[in-house]
Amino acid sequence: MATFRFEALKAASNRPPVAVSEIGKKSEIFGSNVFNDKSMRQHLTPEAYKAVRSAIDQGVKIDRRMADYIALGMKEWAMSKGVTHYTHWFQPLTGTTAEKHDAFFETSFDGSDPVEKFSGSLLVQQEPDASSFPNGGIRNTFEARGYTAWDPTSPAFIFGTTLCIPTVFVSYTGEALDNKAPLLRALSAIDDAATEVARFFDKNVKKVTPTLGWEQEYFLIDDALAASRPDILQTGRTLLGHVSAKGQQLEDHYFGSIPTRVLNYMRDLENECMLLGIPVKTRHNEVAPNQFELAPIFEETNLAVDHNSLLMDVMQKVGERHHFKVLFHEKPFKGVNGSGKHNNWSLATDTGINLLAPGKTPNSNLQFLTFFINTIKAVSNYEELLRASIASASNDHRLGANEAPPAIISIFIGQQLTKVLEELEGVSTGKLSPEEKTDLKLNVVGKIPDVLLDNTDRNRTSPFAFTGNKFEFRAVGSTANCATSMTTLNSIVAKQLIDFKKEVEALVEKDGLKKDEAIFNVLREYIKETKDILFEGDGYSKEWEEEAARRGLSNHKTTPAALKAKVSKKAFDLFGELNVMNHIEVESRYEIELEDYIKKIQIEGRVLGDIVRNHIIPTAFKYQNLLIENVKGLKEIFGKDYEEYATEQILILKKTSMHVNELNAKLHAMMDARKEANALESVEKMAHAYCDNVKPYFDEIRYHADKLELMVDNELWTLTKYRELLFTR
Ligand code: ADP
Ligand code: MG
Repeated sequence: MATFRFEALKAASNRPPVAVSEIGKKSEIFGSNVFNDKSMRQHLTPEAYKAVRSAIDQGVKIDRRMADYIALGMKEWAMSKGVTHYTHWFQPLTGTTAEKHDAFFETSFDGSDPVEKFSGSLLVQQEPDASSFPNGGIRNTFEARGYTAWDPTSPAFIFGTTLCIPTVFVSYTGEALDNKAPLLRALSAIDDAATEVARFFDKNVKKVTPTLGWEQEYFLIDDALAASRPDILQTGRTLLGHVSAKGQQLEDHYFGSIPTRVLNYMRDLENECMLLGIPVKTRHNEVAPNQFELAPIFEETNLAVDHNSLLMDVMQKVGERHHFKVLFHEKPFKGVNGSGKHNNWSLATDTGINLLAPGKTPNSNLQFLTFFINTIKAVSNYEELLRASIASASNDHRLGANEAPPAIISIFIGQQLTKVLEELEGVSTGKLSPEEKTDLKLNVVGKIPDVLLDNTDRNRTSPFAFTGNKFEFRAVGSTANCATSMTTLNSIVAKQLIDFKKEVEALVEKDGLKKDEAIFNVLREYIKETKDILFEGDGYSKEWEEEAARRGLSNHKTTPAALKAKVSKKAFDLFGELNVMNHIEVESRYEIELEDYIKKIQIEGRVLGDIVRNHIIPTAFKYQNLLIENVKGLKEIFGKDYEEYATEQILILKKTSMHVNELNAKLHAMMDARKEANALESVEKMAHAYCDNVKPYFDEIRYHADKLELMVDNELWTLTKYRELLFTR
């Protein structure tokens, strides 16, 4: 019997829900483990508090002396909560988070004067041994060492007994080695650009903050079952396994009642999130069995990105307490839905206005239209770059897999707004007559709030949809660090707003148009130019692929093909002009992502090979031996008539042998393809080789392994089956 599998099943099915004690009203405990405004006021001198505030609000630099005071207050606060260690918490280009803990504790070399210390210099800067983080050649080129630097805009927090200080990770020559530094620069670029444009409508606007509300989808699998699957453990997904008879076809999981064990996990997780100041709000079942979703209240983008990274970490840790392994992979199981991470995005002013929500006056609605249409224009200009920002080996399984947005970027805006744009397209060129202006303001722009009131239009097949007061970038993968997509989206919109402002001003200065006339004129041209990116139909359909090709939209189905846009002249120019990333930073990220892709496919190939060799084929042989024994026995009893009774057994023997032969042949072919790929010199070529020559074997190998699973005695099968992974809770 396949002992490991059956023991895992026994453990999983006997698992009682883990009790969770409530820790108080959410509003009261929210942010208790965060060095937030309230705790800063309590633990910092007024001078030190002011210094942090101006760093957060205006980006003012904090001097060393002040940093010492802040560090002191932070340490006092942390120690009052039982903290013993601190760490600079950062997001290297691995896509996850990194930390190295140091104790506050210090003594003299002879062991005297033991004391807890934390100085300003330790708060502000640290030097992790960065050579083991991916840096895409930056390090070699410049022989630069890297350091982490405090990001005061994302507050320090306590996890366990460690004070975590969010930081950026940069080289001494100034190149960003992480995801956060470019993000912060992109956020600053869009703040500048959007503030200027918002001031066309309201002179009081001084700051525009991009907002992000992500929705995190995930699967929960009992940890004993997860441990029984080498593929889940090492790649985060199942590389083989026959789909179970029941999947999601009964549609009985989505929004269904949450199983107690899972609900307790969610409650425990929410408690932790509350303490950490992550404003989680929504929890529910997703479409696939054992798939769930969690969403917070939206926040300023840098904080939201940090919170998502932190959350993914916390989810795994809380999972351990409940004997769950959290699967973030975009496609852990064949045959049922995969997971995404919708990025809901908008722009908020310091005067309290959501720039992507219609307002009460014609002026504020024209402002809405301006930001709405400029976003469309930005996506239209940079659709390929936006696609590249969400490319990864794991997201390739989802994009275009007929259940998630396709690899083609298009925008869904709904019927009503489509009509509004059609009307605006008819605006006259140059100066507008008073009648036309009045008509526009009253009957087109003025009607927007009413039009949007019943904006229930939803299109689940669109990768980028307007949803009433925000855009939802739905093609982002569930494993992604939101920083990558958010850096790109905010950069392209920033660039677009800069261009828009110039065009409007040119019409005002050179053609003597009034500002609102100029805005109408520019927007009209944008509407004409961006028709190809708008699509309201079924994004999963074959017709759309054909139509999109006619429109000239990109359709890169694989990561190596999609990533190329990152190193286009257009991308270098964009990021360079906005000071988001220089040439080296862009190029190194491209290289790192290709390397990451290669490694992922390489690992999957090896794991698949191991499983087939060590699990599938030996199990098939064992089963064959049983059959052979059986046939021998029949022969003993029935003599030469045995064949009449052994037809089925002999047929299975033949079929299993055929599948084993095929598995062997394909494994060898895959290994040869890997060897060939590894011998290539450029990462680019290697990534394409892994994509085009290695990866296709996965499905072929899987086909034969899954066939064997259906034939072989269940008692012998060592790999936990789909029905067990998906329906044990
Ligand atoms: P839906 O369920 O239709 O996608 P919701 O209103 O439930 O829409 O919002 C989904 C997500 O959008 C939530 O995470 C929420 O925080 C986020 N969100 C709402 N408004 C904004 C906004 N102005 N900016 C960014 N995210 C937002
Ligand atoms: Mg949504």
